[in-house]
Parts: sequence; structure tokens; C-alpha cells
Amino acid sequence: TVLDSWNNDGNFKMNGSKASIQTIVENLNSADLPSNVEVVLCPPAPYLGYTADLNKQKIISVGAQNCYIKESGAYTGEISPLEIKDVGADWVILGHSERRTILNESDEFVAEKVAFALEKGIKVILCIGESIDEKKAGKTLDVCKRELSAVIKSVSNDSWKDIVVAYEPIWAIGTGLAATSQDAQDIHSEIRSYLKSEIGEIADSVRILYGGSANGKNAPEFKDKPDVDGFLVGGASLKPEFVSIITSRQ
Ligand code: PEP
Repeated sequence: TVLDSWNNDGNFKMNGSKASIQTIVENLNSADLPSNVEVVLCPPAPYLGYTADLNKQKIISVGAQNCYIKESGAYTGEISPLEIKDVGADWVILGHSERRTILNESDEFVAEKVAFALEKGIKVILCIGESIDEKKAGKTLDVCKRELSAVIKSVSNDSWKDIVVAYEPIWAIGTGLAATSQDAQDIHSEIRSYLKSEIGEIADSVRILYGGSANGKNAPEFKDKPDVDGFLVGGASLKPEFVSIITSRQ
């Protein structure tokens, strides 16, 4: 499937300052970005409102990197989807491997978060992907299916219009060793087939992003891959080359 709407998201992780975020947003605001590309900037939570206020170009949206499963209350340190919305952000990254591994988030907890965020009107960037050991054991697709299946059980098929899937092999994140574009295409295609068998035709329009050491240099290699519908970018989203990634499909 070649989709006409692409999606590229910047995951700043726990990096940034008011000054550095201003530079990034101004750089994007002044760039000539294609209108069929959706761009989502995901700064650390304290900068969500600041980022949304700086963002003058409609093509860019703002997203959080996590949220909780309650609207409000005694949940010290957690972030409500309503708060995310209130400060001008529309998206949230959920299931990032750093949260699954460092913060022990289970497939079920991630799925609960996805369902709750969607219910509150926040769109979701859902991260899935295998570790190096799982890859070596030939379990890549099994892991992706397991992570997706928890979400499939928790949301209606129609909800997938507001979910972007980011395939992020853990061994490629922050290592400089991106998957090859063909390997990404192969697994993306298998992910789409699995989704189609579970949720039906709507799977054809779910954007499936590649994430893991994507940069300005390797992004163009993915441009002809029909099931790679954009990138989730960590390190390079903090640099001016993020613009080259966003425009790499032209
Ligand atoms: C990420 O963590 O979402 C990511 C893709 O990181 P990087 O681009 O730095 O590998």
C-alpha cells in the first residue's frame, strides 16, 4: 500500500531546553514542508505547552511521550491525556521500548493507555519491536504480534484511524545501526497483513513508521518502500537534519 499521507515524528526523549526547542521549531516553521506530511514533535512533558505555543505552522503537531490511564486525581507524577490536550498537544507516544524495559510497562498496561488516550481524543503513536536476542531467535514477528494483539483486544477496529504504528527494533535505537530499508519493508508488510487479519480493511490505511537510527542520510533509502509510511526519529529529530528526513520521500 502506498499511502498519500506520510507521518514523521520526533521523539526528543529526556532532552531539550527552551532554547533548543525554540531553535528546532523555528527551523521547521521556516522549512518548506510538503503538505501531505504530518509532523509530530514530542518534547519532554514540561515543554509540551511551550512547544505548542511556538508552533505556528499547522503542518506540525505536538505530542507527549507518555500518559496515564486516569483523567485526574492522586497519581503523583503522572500525566493525563486531558492535560496533554489542554496545553495544545494532540498525540502521545505509547509503548516506547525505553518505557517497556526501564519502567517495566507490560503489553496490557500499554494497551490500557492506548484505549484511554484515544477515548479522550488523543491520537497514539504505538511503538513495537524486538530486542537483539529476540531477533536472533527469529521472534521478530511474534513479538510485534504479541504487542499489537494486546492493543487490538482493547480498542475498536475503527480506532485504528487514530493510531500510527512505529516499528522500532530495539537493537537499532540510538545505536547508529538502522535496519535496512528492505528488512523494514518486509516486517512492515507482515505487520500490515497481521493487522488486516485482525482488524480488516482499515489496516490498509494505518501508517506504519520505521524507527531506529533513522537520519538524513539513510531516510531516502526507504522512500520507495510501500509499507514504510514515515519515521519515528530520536536523536536526529534534535538536529536540523530532521527536515531532510521529513522531505526524504519527495
Ligand atoms: C526512538 O527512540 O524512538 C528512536 C527512533 O531513536 P533513534 O532515532 O535515536 O534511534
